[in-house]
Amino acid sequence: MSHDDPHPSEFALIERYFQHKTPQRADVVLGIGDDAALLQLPPQTLMAVAMDTMVAGRHFPLHTHPADIGYKALAVNLSDLAAMAAEPVWLTLALTMPESDNLWLQQFTDGLFQLARRYGMQLIGGDTTRGPLTVTIQAHGFVPRELALTRGGAKAGDKIYVSGTLGDAGLGLRVVQGEIKLPNEDTTFLSQRLNRPEPRVELGMKLRGMASSAIDISDGLLADLQHILDASQVGAVIHADRLPLSSSMKNNIRTEDAKRLALTAGDDYELCFTIPEQHAAEFNALNLHCTCIGEITQHSGLKLHGYEGEIKRAGYQHFL
Ligand code: ADP
Ligand code: MG
Repeated sequence: MSHDDPHPSEFALIERYFQHKTPQRADVVLGIGDDAALLQLPPQTLMAVAMDTMVAGRHFPLHTHPADIGYKALAVNLSDLAAMAAEPVWLTLALTMPESDNLWLQQFTDGLFQLARRYGMQLIGGDTTRGPLTVTIQAHGFVPRELALTRGGAKAGDKIYVSGTLGDAGLGLRVVQGEIKLPNEDTTFLSQRLNRPEPRVELGMKLRGMASSAIDISDGLLADLQHILDASQVGAVIHADRLPLSSSMKNNIRTEDAKRLALTAGDDYELCFTIPEQHAAEFNALNLHCTCIGEITQHSGLKLHGYEGEIKRAGYQHFL
């Protein structure tokens, strides 16, 4: 292939954009180029595997910058690994595109590999096909046996925490779609929160041996917390007045609207987790900048205090 061929063949494309573009890890015995990758898992280690698909026009607006698509496709998977307390190591990429476009591929891989390199992850394989733009990434992480976090361990009396601030991505989506006009600095902050979510990988790993359960907030706090409650067979009390809100949320929309977004809007990719009393001191000493928003209860069901509005539908469900 000549280097400026605007539509490279599949093999040329793989070599040019995907091979040797991420850190070469010692635990990858064989990476891109054969029929399958060969991988070495350390002893006493479990592999956490997460996969997420993003379809153009459905999971991101059609005009989203390719670098943001690449970044976010990996970020949402890293967020899943973070919720399991796993350390990211490898990824695979299934890419479906209407045509092979050099500029698009360059920008897409710039965004994707920027995040992969930050975590020392190696791209170990994938698949490339023609069709409507769809990006599927599978991320692989290591977690010591016994230390993985799940949705299932919350007990009555555990405190419920969330990282970061909530609702920003939900407001950001309305801003990038032109439904709301905000001052420039808020527009910049909120679109960053929507397009470049910060997966809480380090936080997830610090919670090993301390948190009793964890989940990442992809569909909205209420919907995702409910998964912890179901898996752990417990209930919860949440105080809406304690929800962490960014100044962009506080300064630009009504308090009840901000609370509603924080409770129900998806795409924030913060962690929600529970800390039992016996680990409270150890947890507080780490100063992780998380916010206690309530407590796990014996009785099932989710009680919400301090919110007057109505909640029509908890979270985003694709097939409803
Ligand atoms: P096969 O026909 O045996 O499935 P492919 O031609 O699909 O092989 O892929 C050749 C090699 O390139 C494989 O190692 C595969 O994992 C890798 N590969 C294909 N597409 C991608 C991609 N989008 N990202 C990373 N690696 C890829
Ligand atoms: Mg093959």
